[in-house]
Amino acid sequence: MEKVAVLGAGVMGLACAYELSKKGYAVEIFEADDRVGGMSAHFDFDGLSIERFYHFVCKPDESLFELLKELGIEDKLIWKTTKMGYYYQGKHYQWGNPVALLKFSELDLLSKLRYGMHMFYSTKISNWKRLDSRNAAEWIKKWIGERAYKVLWERLFHLKFHHYSDNLSAAWIWSRIKRVGLSRKSLLQEELGYLHGGSETLLKSLEQKLDMRKVAINLCEPVKQVTKGENGRFVVNTVKRQALFDKVVSTIPLPFVSRIFPGLSEDAKRKYDSVSNIGVVCVLFKLGKKVTENFWLNISDPGIEIPGIIEFSNLRELPSNIVYIPYYMPIEHEKYKWPDSGFIDEAKEHIRKLNPEITAADFLAEHVSRYNYAQPICDPDFLSKLPPIKSEVEGLYLADTSYYYPEDRSISESLRLGKKIASMLISE
Ligand SMILES: Cc1cc2nc3c(=O)[nH]c(=O)nc-3n(C[C@H](O)[C@H](O)[C@H](O)COP(=O)(O)OP(=O)(O)OC[C@H]3O[C@@H](n4cnc5c(N)ncnc54)[C@H](O)[C@@H]3O)c2cc1C
Repeated sequence: MEKVAVLGAGVMGLACAYELSKKGYAVEIFEADDRVGGMSAHFDFDGLSIERFYHFVCKPDESLFELLKELGIEDKLIWKTTKMGYYYQGKHYQWGNPVALLKFSELDLLSKLRYGMHMFYSTKISNWKRLDSRNAAEWIKKWIGERAYKVLWERLFHLKFHHYSDNLSAAWIWSRIKRVGLSRKSLLQEELGYLHGGSETLLKSLEQKLDMRKVAINLCEPVKQVTKGENGRFVVNTVKRQALFDKVVSTIPLPFVSRIFPGLSEDAKRKYDSVSNIGVVCVLFKLGKKVTENFWLNISDPGIEIPGIIEFSNLRELPSNIVYIPYYMPIEHEKYKWPDSGFIDEAKEHIRKLNPEITAADFLAEHVSRYNYAQPICDPDFLSKLPPIKSEVEGLYLADTSYYYPEDRSISESLRLGKKIASMLISE
């Protein structure tokens, strides 16, 4: 029986281990964190188990639906009609449907029609290769014009991607527009999903299946180095021990790869190192009042330093009002060094600006989660710059969320890729 080490117990690592274990491989998972789930992990927020980072499900998330069915938990997926808003220069607008667009007073009719056409067209494109080498900002401007780009996209791009904003792949931005654009009940109604109990429902079910198949999940055991021994087997060195494996699958963020796998060629290491990531500092509040009725509120306002807020309790049935305020930025950014309290104070000011009825007493609980590699930055022709998943070292498979470009990071895509890596390994 071949022994496989899987690095990372995020959903990609868990899905890969699950598939391998179904085919009789002896699998062991190594995870640096004290829990499974990676970006989708839960924590105890003032008595409520909830994700460290918001998670919603979209209609095209097929790989997630397939797995939920296989695990017998498809009834835990709940769909809800949701609202989107846009806070522009101190004013709230409805957003996300043709009527809202027509009512938006900050653009002329022609720009609105062009914007609507662009959104519609984006949901119809199936061949993304045509967009692969194009620049996202230029592509959008060509469709909707300079003025509409300034009003609707520029600040969102700046607050999410910072100095990378001017060199993003159009295919990558298109796939985000398409994923959410296709998650609708009708032209006028957006419909998003969530798992009853949160992502933890999926994680627990996978853990249970892995446990039944005797797959060990070693928590708090980061892998420090993986090399090949003289007998051709992999030597996996963790902070606690050394263990031997026939094959290794790594699902940890690419920036760690060249340090952990010293046997890779300099060319491959350079390619892994060339992928930039942005981090996220995500403030979470439990509030005495709703901020808005929206699930998602995009923001473009000179006094507000976030691209939007996610009012999670307007999607998932929860006992209290829960709002995520994500600050995305490169981890080298000066602001990333701020203590958590700095982000909490600033986020409170923003929330009170968005809804002046919220008082200091309405902030009932708060928490800050950080993830250094929250989002790879995909520039034009991104995929061709990455080394193949089946690496140059025989028996070593390497991927992270960058590898499902042009798709944006999602649980569904990580599940799909985890399963695909397992099939690649099995078919070798
Ligand atoms: C703010 C935010 C919002 C999001 N919103 C959504 C959403 O609404 N819908 C959606 O579907 N998806 C969303 N996502 C994306 C989704 O969470 C990810 O795509 C998915 O969870 C990635 O899983 P993964 O296993 O590929 O990677 P990760 O979750 O990054 O897992 C990698 C794992 O490797 C571990 N690791 C790192 N170094 C080592 C080491 N040396 N040894 C062992 N283990 C190591 C890490 O601790 C981690 O657990 C969001 C993510 C973020 C950050």
